[in-house]
Amino acid sequence: MPSQGSEKSPILVIGMGVIGLTTSVRLLQASHKVHILATQIPSSPLDPTYCSSAAGAHHLSFAADDDERQRRLDMRTFEVMMKEEAEEGKASAILRLTQREFYGTEGEKHIELFEGLPDFKVVLKEDLPAFAKHAVSFTSLTMDTTPYLHKLLALFTSLGGTYTHLATPLPSLTSALNHLPSSSPTPLAIINCTGIGSLTLGDVDDKTVYPVRGQVVVLDAPWIKEGRTLQVGQLNDASGEGGERTYIIPRRSGQVIIGGTRENGDWCKDPRPETAEDIKRRALLLFPELCPPHLRPSTFNPFPSTTQSLSSSLLDNIILKHVVGFRPAREGGLRLERGDDLAASLPSSTASGQVKIPVVHNYGHSGAGWQCSWGCAEEVVRIVQEL
Ligand SMILES: Cc1cc2nc3c(=O)[nH]c(=O)nc-3n(C[C@H](O)[C@H](O)[C@H](O)COP(=O)(O)OP(=O)(O)OC[C@H]3O[C@@H](n4cnc5c(N)ncnc54)[C@H](O)[C@@H]3O)c2cc1C
Repeated sequence: MPSQGSEKSPILVIGMGVIGLTTSVRLLQASHKVHILATQIPSSPLDPTYCSSAAGAHHLSFAADDDERQRRLDMRTFEVMMKEEAEEGKASAILRLTQREFYGTEGEKHIELFEGLPDFKVVLKEDLPAFAKHAVSFTSLTMDTTPYLHKLLALFTSLGGTYTHLATPLPSLTSALNHLPSSSPTPLAIINCTGIGSLTLGDVDDKTVYPVRGQVVVLDAPWIKEGRTLQVGQLNDASGEGGERTYIIPRRSGQVIIGGTRENGDWCKDPRPETAEDIKRRALLLFPELCPPHLRPSTFNPFPSTTQSLSSSLLDNIILKHVVGFRPAREGGLRLERGDDLAASLPSSTASGQVKIPVVHNYGHSGAGWQCSWGCAEEVVRIVQEL
């Protein structure tokens, strides 16, 4: 690894979402020196542009059967998180649970990847609820997003990582160099983990990046212990995440996320009341037991009976908050590769003239950043080792 004098060349990582943090942890574990620059960090207030804290989040791959790379990234992340859950228990901020996937459209089936997950089963036709044409179940994982981000940040600093919490976004990759200490050697690389920020970050300016707005409702429902999803319409369309999806994501903390929406190109930061009503209605159909036990009508039928119509207002007393996030989508999908080197004059006193700094991109994860995070982080380490 090149370095000047006795000081190690740092790697600058831009972004402190789940992608920037997992990438930085793996780089430190591979003996690199890492400094992160970011405007939003795990203690920042919830904001749609800080997608990692707004997410559900469950491990539920969208990888098409022929997409070897995405399958590998998702499966590797599953393996890492399963181990974390087994070793750390409550401190992992991960919940291991039974996941049931329902498909409401004739001909729609589960992806092949699910068949490799623990306890995989196809639900018998006679056991399907009226709204489903097909269903599978398996063991999966959900993440308590903010606690998990805090855990990653604590691990990052314990491994010797440093960071700057910026007051304003960097205008460009080049401007990141202004944040190096004056005595710092030339950075070994810059890793771009800015998510939706890559749309406007100078030197990247990726105009194929766009938001896929997602709105969810966070409930306090610790009695819910199973994850469920209903997919209506085709999942693997051009975006790889098509159709309407209703999901129930219980977290270890007892919070339950119900969702969701996918609104391409929609920058509305505020939760829409009519969307929240629709989410509650869909969620109650898929999981009537969301209704608090003491509010259940005498005619209440547990799942899979769907003959009852439960009022969405039954959930109102357990609503903790409404959340909106902008999934960082990209035409052509995830960008995980070495980009053009950055030609820059270092403000540092130890380097003179123009330097070329390798840039590695890790952005555009859309609705799948949590479930492929560790796989992507390890891919970045592999790219950096080859510089
Ligand atoms: C409702 C919803 C549900 C979701 N559910 C799931 C799920 O179940 N499973 C799953 O895997 N994924 C899910 N996702 C998607 C997932 O949240 C994202 O793919 C992931 O969070 C992207 O992480 P990131 O680190 O790239 O981006 P972010 O978390 O947005 O982080 C970007 C970072 O870059 C920084 N930054 C950006 N621009 C600049 C700049 N110019 N200067 C300095 N810093 C900058 C930001 O401050 C921030 O620190 C969901 C998303 C939403 C909205």
